[in-house]
Amino acid sequence: MRIAILSGKGGTGKTTLTASLIPYFEELVIADCDVDAPDLNILFELEPIAQEEFIGLKKAFLDEELCIKCGKCYDVCKFTAIEPDIKINIIKCEGCGVCEYICPVLAIQMKDRSIGDLFVSKTKYGDMVHARLIPGEEASGKLVSKVRKIAKELAVSKNLKNIIVDGSPGIACSVISSITGAKKIVIVTEPTFSGIHDLKRVYELTQKFNLKVYVVINKWDISLEHTKLIESYCNEKK
Ligand code: SF4
Ligand code: SF4
Repeated sequence: MRIAILSGKGGTGKTTLTASLIPYFEELVIADCDVDAPDLNILFELEPIAQEEFIGLKKAFLDEELCIKCGKCYDVCKFTAIEPDIKINIIKCEGCGVCEYICPVLAIQMKDRSIGDLFVSKTKYGDMVHARLIPGEEASGKLVSKVRKIAKELAVSKNLKNIIVDGSPGIACSVISSITGAKKIVIVTEPTFSGIHDLKRVYELTQKFNLKVYVVINKWDISLEHTKLIESYCNEKK
């Protein structure tokens, strides 16, 4: 069974809950899909097994010696990633490749770029697949897919029944990537206005995939009023 633990927002206790559930499972592979802020790994004693670089989206690289400063790339870049003096801002570059296509002298090339690392580590509860994205880099959805894929391959190759996924917070593509293939979802929320708002958003997202959802109200006693509102919402949604 694959279970994904989610939260509509950060700071609800999603990773703490995931770590607390892990000892209750046997035949387990653990996948930390919160690649923007991975911290499940710091709660366990890890023995490194494998590490590999993660190559993200291709980015534009300029060969200044070939460039004739015609300005065509500057005109076509919709992401303002090319400065008027024809310098490429790699952070802004979305990797669309139009500048490479338009350049008359082949001065721009799209190239692979390492934007993080993937790890497989041994814990006393099972192998953990985790990753680290370089701060400011995007493509976390793609990295999450890779974490999930490795976790699945490990489970299949070792004939293990369970995968527990610490998902990304929010509702972005990395969350969709975290829940792909999951059979059950646990959403961790808290009794606050933003907690309820974000619970609803992430719940609606899971329903696009018809997933069975369970909700944990963490810190339930900080506002009984809000806890009741969450319970009513959960009852309404069955
Ligand atoms: S299109 Fe090519 S030659 Fe023209 S400014 Fe851009 S990089 Fe230089
Ligand atoms: S690849 Fe696209 S986004 Fe990046 S610099 Fe070229 S035109 Fe701009």
